[in-house]
Amino acid sequence: MTIDEKVRKTLAELGATDAAGVEALFGEVRAAMEQERSSLVARGASSEAERDKLCKDLRDRWLARKNGLLTQIDEHWLKLGAKELKPIVGRQFNELRKASAGMETNELAQVVPLRKETSASMAQLSAQLESDVIRAERGDVSDLTLPGYRRPLGSLHPVTQMQREIEEIFLNLGFWIESGPEIESVYYNFDALNIPESHPSRDDWDTLYINSQTVLRTHTSPVQIRAMEKYGAPLYIIIPGKCYRHDNPDASHSPMFHQVEGLAIASDITFADLKGTLDFFAKKLFGEKVQTRFQPSFFPFTEPSGEVAISCIFCGGEGCRVCKESGWIEVMGCGMVHPQVLRNGGIDPEKFSGWAFGLGVDRFAMLKYDINDIQLFFQSDVRFLEQF
Ligand SMILES: [Zn+2]
Repeated sequence: MTIDEKVRKTLAELGATDAAGVEALFGEVRAAMEQERSSLVARGASSEAERDKLCKDLRDRWLARKNGLLTQIDEHWLKLGAKELKPIVGRQFNELRKASAGMETNELAQVVPLRKETSASMAQLSAQLESDVIRAERGDVSDLTLPGYRRPLGSLHPVTQMQREIEEIFLNLGFWIESGPEIESVYYNFDALNIPESHPSRDDWDTLYINSQTVLRTHTSPVQIRAMEKYGAPLYIIIPGKCYRHDNPDASHSPMFHQVEGLAIASDITFADLKGTLDFFAKKLFGEKVQTRFQPSFFPFTEPSGEVAISCIFCGGEGCRVCKESGWIEVMGCGMVHPQVLRNGGIDPEKFSGWAFGLGVDRFAMLKYDINDIQLFFQSDVRFLEQF
């Protein structure tokens, strides 16, 4: 029997025939009142208007002159009570009255908080929680006290970390970052870079062709031409990005890999600037003790061209497995930009000169983190990736 039903019956009907029975009944009423009050306080309201309404509703339920619970108790328990019980019922009723002072609308409004959250989301949340609790009580769901799902935080891929480190060094030297399309025309990928029709790199065993005039770029160098056309000279840029070649995947080859290209063009650029910049770069990346070595090489887009090696970072130049006992590790190609390439980019080689270099980011990351298989970068194995 609810409180609402009980207050409509007489004490005799409720079986409260002595002081103890009466006290127990009033105890029940006071507990119900306190419980309804504190649940409203805990629930709060989403607006002042809602708060005022909730407070007034609760006040009227208990204290309304006509049909409030206290009026019912007065009518049925006090006025219709047995004569010998009147003193105790009167005393209990007075105590209940005093306790009910906190149920006045104004008193309630002072303690019912306004919620910051939108009422919709809170209502949804509490409805969800209620239904969960009800289902749990029926035994429909498993233990609600089980810990929640933990979603592990990711981190930057080691190749991305390496790329950002390289970018940072050149950004501090005053270079800016330029990018270009990975699907590139044969003109930008080969012709404009002075790579002749007969060059083996154009072979479709080396290059992934989309059609006879379109390729997946085999290096980031096409962006050199695009940037020259766009900005002219002077120009100081680095070009990080993905490249594609017709390579079978093995420990040191991947059909998709990452390059960073560097290009500096100005009126008085020499090979000494190139050497100085790359030596500074190598020391920043691998440590002050690292030395650089330049050896002649050949690329169609630079003249003269060079191959850059750094002193072995594993043995310090003594000779080891990684450097194949030579003490040196080749890390990139470089050279002075070929005059024809400058012309193709719309820059007068009589007025300006420039240098360029290109390096493999994946290979740098393999060196830096001592990884012996490039495939590990692209297998998305969390056991590998979470080490960085
Ligand atoms: Zn070594």
